[in-house]
Formats: sequence, C-alpha cells, structure tokens
Amino acid sequence: MAELWDVAVIGGGAAGLLAASRAAERGRRTLLLEKNARPGVKILMSGGTRCNITHDTDNRGIVQGFGPPGKFLHSALAALSVRQTIELFESEGVATKVEETGKIFPVSDKAADVLAALLRRLQRGGATLALSEPVLELRRSEAGLSLTTPGRTLLARRVVLTTGGQSYPGSGTTGDGYRFARALGHTIVPPRPALAPLTVNLPWVAELRGITIPDVTLRVLDGNQVLANRRGSLLFAHFGLSGPVALDVSRVVSGAERPEALTLEIDLLPGMKEAELDEHLRREALASGKKLLVGILPEALPRRLGEMLLTQAKLPLDRKAAGLTKGERTLLVQSMKRLRLPVKGTLGFQRAEVTAGGVALAEVDSRTMQSKLVPELYLAGEVLDLDGPIGGYNFQAAFSTGWLAGESV
Ligand SMILES: Cc1cc2nc3c(=O)[nH]c(=O)nc-3n(C[C@H](O)[C@H](O)[C@H](O)COP(=O)(O)OP(=O)(O)OC[C@H]3O[C@@H](n4cnc5c(N)ncnc54)[C@H](O)[C@@H]3O)c2cc1C
Repeated sequence: MAELWDVAVIGGGAAGLLAASRAAERGRRTLLLEKNARPGVKILMSGGTRCNITHDTDNRGIVQGFGPPGKFLHSALAALSVRQTIELFESEGVATKVEETGKIFPVSDKAADVLAALLRRLQRGGATLALSEPVLELRRSEAGLSLTTPGRTLLARRVVLTTGGQSYPGSGTTGDGYRFARALGHTIVPPRPALAPLTVNLPWVAELRGITIPDVTLRVLDGNQVLANRRGSLLFAHFGLSGPVALDVSRVVSGAERPEALTLEIDLLPGMKEAELDEHLRREALASGKKLLVGILPEALPRRLGEMLLTQAKLPLDRKAAGLTKGERTLLVQSMKRLRLPVKGTLGFQRAEVTAGGVALAEVDSRTMQSKLVPELYLAGEVLDLDGPIGGYNFQAAFSTGWLAGESV
C-alpha cells in the first residue's frame, strides 16, 4: 500500500514552506517534497542574496501593485498581512529594516537568515521535509491524489502545488506545476518572462554599460499607446537596459505579440518640465558660452551619457555652448525628455526574476486557494497567473497565498 498523507506540498520555496508549516501546525500530517537538495534556493538568491521579503505598504498597496488581478490576493493578505509577515520573521529572530525604496530586508542583509527562520518554523510545526525528491506525476486517485517520485508513489488527501514558475530554471523551477495542473484540467495562461532585463540592439546603448541613472521614467509604447510607465532607477548594460524600471516594464514586452514593434521612451529628467529644461539650456548657453555644450547639460546626467545624447542629436562633441539655437535646444530637450529606443525583447526565462502567466485565477477559489476543478488540489505562489513588481511584492504574494493554503487544507 502506498503511504497516505493528510497533506503533500510540492515545492519547498516561499509558498510551499509556509503552506507546509501552517498545515502541520494545524495538526495535518504533512509532507513537503522538494526536488533540490536544499529548500528555498530562490530565497537564498533573492534581492542580491539579501532577500527583499516584502514592501513597506499595507495590504491594499500590495493588491494595487499587482494591477487588476491583485484582487485575487485580498483573502490571502487578510490571512497573512504584510504586518503579520514581518512579525512572523521578527518572532523567529529576524529583525527587518525598511530601505529608502520601500523594500524590506533583514537587518543582517542575509537571505540565509530568512530561509533559516522559515525552516525553523517548518520543523517546529512537525512537517516532514523530503529533499532531492522531485514529483514526476500527480494524478487523481480514490484516496485523494497520487504523487509519483523517482523512488515511491504516495497518496495525499490534499495536495498544495507550490512549484513556482519557470524562470531561472537552473534553480529548480522548470514549470512542472503547469504540467501537473494542466493534466488535472486547469487552464494555463501562457507563461512568459517578467522582471527580466530588456534587450536593445543599439551599439551606443551597449557603450553606456555600467551607467546607472537613479531617477528616470521609462515607458513602453505601442504606436501612441502607452503600455507601461515606471519611474525609478535605470541601468545601461551591454545587452540593453536593466535596473528596476526596465525589469518592471518587461512583462508587457514579453507579453507582446511582436516585441520588436514596440518602442521604449525614456525621460532622463522626470523632475524637470520640457520648458524648464529648455530655459536651463538657454540660460547656461548665454552665461557659460565658452563651456563645451556637454558641460551645460543638467548635472543629473553622467557625462558619457550627455556625450551620447549630443551625438544622437547630431551635435559635435567639441561644440561650445555659445550660440545654441532654438532648434538645437529643442532637439536636445527631446533627447533628454523623450529618448526613444527600439526594443528587441527580454533576456528571457534564464534571467527573469518571475514568470507571468500560470494557472488561471478564475479556476482557483481565492478565499481558500482550493482548485475549483479538483477539490483535493490547492495552489499557491508563482505557479498562479500572478506576477508583481519589483520590491518584495512577489514574496509577499507567495507567503500569503502559501499561508492561506496551509490554513485551508
Ligand atoms: C534572482 C531572483 C531574485 C529575486 N528577488 C526577489 C526579491 O528580492 N523579492 C521578491 O519579492 N521576489 C524576488 N524574486 C521572486 C521570488 O523569488 C519568487 O516570486 C518566489 O520565490 C515565488 O515563490 P514560490 O514558492 O511560488 O516559488 P519558488 O520559490 O520558485 O519555489 C518553487 C519550488 O518548487 C520546487 N519544485 C519545482 N518543481 C518541483 C517538482 N516537480 N517536485 C518538487 N519540487 C519542485 C523548486 O525547486 C522550488 O524550490 C526573485 C527571483 C529571482 C529569480
């Protein structure tokens, strides 16, 4: 006879660790199956190994961060709020801090401390953790669901699917959960990379690699239609653009039928109106005519970028500021306020922090995380068709949905 568990949780990431802890704390005989030799690999690599646990906002702020699908998270956040998530970690000895961007990190700056806290809680709750044991197949059976792993077949009355998405496949997330859910009848909204760097095929962009501009607005345009608009920090890279704003808009690029038909528009000085910038140039050209033209551009722009903008505006680099014409000013203002670049695509799943798409939300009861098609099945975390912006939103969604699944099984 196959072993029978009350609850089997598939995938020991953020969502699975909380789901298993909570289910076990509620007295369910719980088995957490993880394909890797250690759990929580993405927690360890997250936030530059510092783990941006959540965001300094309330539940409503998290919901809004996810856009219209965010309403799916109301019950999960009511079960485990942003505040309660922070308290959960603090009660395990992980003090947290809020950074200027609103991101919340452990004071120690160590993702390992976050994972250790979750593992302590899991162990205290009494769940059994099976490592290096990938689930290969998930099927309906009379007792509930049957799970096949390389060494055994198990039965579980309830299964929580927390296999994550399919980004950074080297970390274990290869989209297995989509396959299991589809086989059980669920609709899978086509997975695509999100929070991924953008590729741009322009040599001058590559030449600016390494330059970070802390405050820009980046828009994605489809003709005149604005598909995405984010303000924050931007990094030029050898392949194109990275940094929070580039990552945040990447979901609409990867979601477009023809990404290369889209245009990126960058406002390099969002704090300044076009007229103010024009006036700044006019004044400076009059007052400091002997300076090189690049020397009168606003200081917020690094010189290398300024020179590139002059080249783009077809103005020679040895050009002095004196005699700057109205037409030239307009060209310069445009290149700083509405710098347009053709986008090629994203760096793909290999470098996407999350996966957009996944199990269709309409088929999951947001009050319990139970599948509306297979009553023995619960789903939580990134396997669902939910992806949030950078800043701790994705972990918060994984923690809260995982917790609610553990409360419900
Ligand atoms: C580089 C990087 C940095 C990130 N930084 C942040 C950050 O700072 N803040 C933030 O909020 N988000 C961050 N994210 C996103 C965040 O890591 C994910 O949104 C979150 O981990 C999703 O949690 P999850 O539990 O749903 O899935 P995961 O954490 O991906 O866990 C899924 C688990 O399931 C296991 N698994 C998969 N298939 C099987 C199977 N068949 N059998 C058994 N086990 C299986 C996997 O090995 C994995 O351990 C980052 C992501 C990456 C890649």
